[in-house]
Amino acid sequence: MKLASRMAKIKPSPTLAITAKAQALRAQGRNIIGFGAGEPDFDTPDNIKAAAVDAIRRGFTKYTPVGGTDELKDAIRAKLKRDNGLEYDRSEIVVSCGAKHTLFNLLQVLFEEGDEVLIPSPCWVSYPDMVLLSGATPVILETKESEGFKADPGLLRSKIGAKTRAIILNSPSNPTGAAYTREELSALASVILEGKIIVISDDIYEKIVYDGFQFADIASVRPDLRPFTVVVNGVSKSYSMTGWRIGYAAGDREIISAVTGFQSQNTSNPTSISQAAAVEALNGDQSSLGIMVEEFRRRRDFMVEGLDGIPGMSCLRPQGAFYAFPNIAGLIGRSKGGRAIRGSGDLAEYLLDEVDVAVVPGLPFGSDSHIRLSYATSMANIQEGLKRIKHAISLLK
Ligand code: PMP
Ligand code: GLU
Repeated sequence: MKLASRMAKIKPSPTLAITAKAQALRAQGRNIIGFGAGEPDFDTPDNIKAAAVDAIRRGFTKYTPVGGTDELKDAIRAKLKRDNGLEYDRSEIVVSCGAKHTLFNLLQVLFEEGDEVLIPSPCWVSYPDMVLLSGATPVILETKESEGFKADPGLLRSKIGAKTRAIILNSPSNPTGAAYTREELSALASVILEGKIIVISDDIYEKIVYDGFQFADIASVRPDLRPFTVVVNGVSKSYSMTGWRIGYAAGDREIISAVTGFQSQNTSNPTSISQAAAVEALNGDQSSLGIMVEEFRRRRDFMVEGLDGIPGMSCLRPQGAFYAFPNIAGLIGRSKGGRAIRGSGDLAEYLLDEVDVAVVPGLPFGSDSHIRLSYATSMANIQEGLKRIKHAISLLK
């Protein structure tokens, strides 16, 4: 079958592929411990579910305005004002089917052949492919582990050229957990303003931060950047609502109107019932969030310590999100019975085959000397998984 040539530019999402593979192996009876896709293992809070049930009961089951209901836009506006110190009106907000959809739509309406989009790396697997699908070229800013995997103003300045249109900032980061302080954001903002480029600020892990870290949005740190910033966020991670598919963008009216028009020719509105639930998530009781984040912190500490203690591995302590991103450089070149570990893909395959543990190779995130493990899974799984990884690695000579 002849497929469109754009399909040759991209690969299926590796995070979702690993998760599907782990599920398929479980169905065959294998006892797989999954550290694959980043998805909170907590149930969606009851007050949010009740709002969805109520929406169904009252017949709120029809098309809504393409870019989301006024009620949800107002809940998002209130959230952005309360949490981020950012004020928008309804025409500056669009709601889509998950933040992934929001980002895809944004890149489609903003960029085309000849444009360059900067992406600090390691980065979420979907950014480069989504940029490629828009026709633009992803330009990777390689950050250093020794600098906490953060882009600095010098690195950013060195990559801004005549074709540069935007930078995608993700703090806290998937996969590294690196989170930018106000001072760091302010320094980057100066270079962004000088370069006259747009910032797409993916704040999806904003609420999942540890050790008293204060999340800040670049547009609130530097209000002069607000006209050039599009904030992207959603309810998937903060409210354990990955399956409900609600994400949103806030920014320049012209951009938001273009996204809404684009969306009117693909999905139309996000699910009406999920929108009603998202209103409750944003406006309702926030107590489950604190409980979830405290549990993630406990797991992070346990997992990072465990990984860091395995000979051949070292692991930075993430400041946010729910991923550990250990360095595996010390394992490259080792082997077991003729099976050599030449990079992150080999190690991920080895762990799956040898001890039934699913991790994501670092390569699609931008580093072949790391692997990613999501700790959004039970402490029991983490304990058992670490034990198995330690054993498998002890067999590598
Ligand atoms: N951005 C980042 C960095 C992510 O890790 C994810 C995870 N899926 C998303 C955006 C999209 O989330 P969702 O589509 O579930 O809102
Ligand atoms: N963002 C999560 C992850 O990185 C969910 C899967 C995906 O959409 O990539 O694992």
